[in-house]
Amino acid sequence: MNGFIHSFESLAALDGGGIRFAVFLMGCPLRCAYCHNPDTWDMANAPIEMTPQELAKKVARYKPYFKKDGGVTFSGGEPLLQAEFIKEAAYLLEKSNIGYVIDTSGALPLDETKKHVLSHADLVLLDIKFWNDESYLEYTGKSIKNTLDTLDFLDSIGKRTVIRTVVIPGINDSKEMVEKYLQTIRGKKCVEKYELLAFHTMGFFKYRELGIENRFSDIEALDKNKREELQRFVYENMKDIDQT
Ligand code: SF4
Repeated sequence: MNGFIHSFESLAALDGGGIRFAVFLMGCPLRCAYCHNPDTWDMANAPIEMTPQELAKKVARYKPYFKKDGGVTFSGGEPLLQAEFIKEAAYLLEKSNIGYVIDTSGALPLDETKKHVLSHADLVLLDIKFWNDESYLEYTGKSIKNTLDTLDFLDSIGKRTVIRTVVIPGINDSKEMVEKYLQTIRGKKCVEKYELLAFHTMGFFKYRELGIENRFSDIEALDKNKREELQRFVYENMKDIDQT
């Protein structure tokens, strides 16, 4: 079976540690209003198609750079939309002693293949995009339920998990709003970090190019100091998790 891929980023310093080879997979069930990669949404537009064997061979060339902590990061789009492809590629990577990270929205219902892929990952980066079901429906078009189920699953297997949220001016950029997210995360022993990411406008041109409405076109990038202030708030209110 082939994987449908948007692009690669080799030798990237991404979350997950070490030097990483990022695979951005096509297709996404969400339509996040802040998405800076709307060109990944439709799998039919995949510019790259390859087999798991071809991917594993491509990645193997970079193995000397991975050292102890590096490896592959499957991102997107929503990588778990192609869980079968990842499962096969991961099997080949594991045979070469190359680990992987999954960067997911958790928006898809879990089945055995997705559970397998998540449980074999070195680390899972899980986005909690908005703070409740209503805001999820408003800004992503889908319910928060599957994301919460994914978090529960990761907690049940003790999988190392990093939670991430994009902070958007005027939407969720206050301590009161961040506290709502913390209420979801607290008590989950799998969470080793909660990282706030700054909303930026670098993907706006893609909306113009693709002729897609950009609902956040009037919102400016989040101020760096604001993000740091809120990240400190997270640290102070979740002292039991590592925020380095
Ligand atoms: S999950 Fe990621 S790729 Fe999908 S719409 Fe949201 S931000 Fe974009």
